[in-house]
Amino acid sequence: MFPLLKYTKEEIDGYFDRVTPDMVAASVASAKPGFFDLLNMISPAAYAFFDDIRERAAVERRRYYGKTVSVYAPLYIGNTCINSCRYCDFRSQHTGTVRRNLSIPEIEKEADAIRSSGIDSVLVVAGEDPRVNTVEHLADVGRCLKKRFSNLSLEVAPQTEDAYRRLFAAGYEALTCFQETYDRERYAYFHPAGPKSNYEFRLWTQLRAGRAGFRQLGCAFLLGLSPWRAEAASLAAHAIYLMKECYQAKIQFAFPRFCPTEGGGFQPEFPVGERDVELMMNAFRAAFPQCCMTVSTREAPAFRDRIVQSAADNMSAGSRVVPGGYAVLEQTGDTAQFTLSDRRPPKEVYEAIKANGQEVVFKNWDNRI
Ligand code: SF4
Repeated sequence: MFPLLKYTKEEIDGYFDRVTPDMVAASVASAKPGFFDLLNMISPAAYAFFDDIRERAAVERRRYYGKTVSVYAPLYIGNTCINSCRYCDFRSQHTGTVRRNLSIPEIEKEADAIRSSGIDSVLVVAGEDPRVNTVEHLADVGRCLKKRFSNLSLEVAPQTEDAYRRLFAAGYEALTCFQETYDRERYAYFHPAGPKSNYEFRLWTQLRAGRAGFRQLGCAFLLGLSPWRAEAASLAAHAIYLMKECYQAKIQFAFPRFCPTEGGGFQPEFPVGERDVELMMNAFRAAFPQCCMTVSTREAPAFRDRIVQSAADNMSAGSRVVPGGYAVLEQTGDTAQFTLSDRRPPKEVYEAIKANGQEVVFKNWDNRI
């Protein structure tokens, strides 16, 4: 569990079992839902209120985000990695993966391909490899991309606060770091070696980035590694803590559902169904109406088109999850980090958003510094 949460996993699980339909109804109607209202809305008793929770979420989403849907694309700059995450085909021991780190000219080529689709916001992704992805290199990448995009987000190995200051100065404003699982024992099992085996250093990543000036802090757990309700309680507690400590930043939630990688192999022990994800996303929107929420390309098109109407305000479009996947590689037979369910090109994603009566947003703020 998130270590500052006052309750044990057993107490949280016991609470879920005791939630009654009346408690769920009261939480859905609450003027300002709190932590326990969120738990009520994701409890087993909440399924009878599925449509009510969705409706409440849609009201909050409209209140804070109107009809807008922001779009972005991930840009994988490299997939060498010294970690050993048991569920990822980029792990150091996995021999079936073609390894590649893009040069700055190759990154520019990828960036131009993304930019030509209209997208103005990118998430820079890389495996953890301190031999390649030094702070200096990441800063160079940031300065190069900032000439092309309004908004840069970062999803790379956790850094020190000083490194985040330098990366913020280079143009990155948002950070994403999935805790993968808040359960310490399971975390140790899934991350047996490499720097990522340090649970604490990863856990306080958003705090360091927030203190360094980052404007948006992304939090998530990987759905499938541990029972999802207790993980969701930890995620909520983590977000509440960050909202107090880093009040100048916005929290962004993501709900990445574990999908088997192209090479097969790892299967999640606690698979999460689509209806569970939908309930959870709508409940988080109802309880954290002001926070950002993204829906990834791991989910199927119909689900994504539906969830941006009630919960998510942000979605990826036309994603490629291999380094060089947009323009550098002529054939994309390389191993992807995870399987994409939504393979629509960006234009089709934009059309689907418009068909919902919503508006595609490429850029929603300007950095005046
Ligand atoms: S999940 Fe990230 S850190 Fe772990 S092996 Fe894959 S790329 Fe490396």
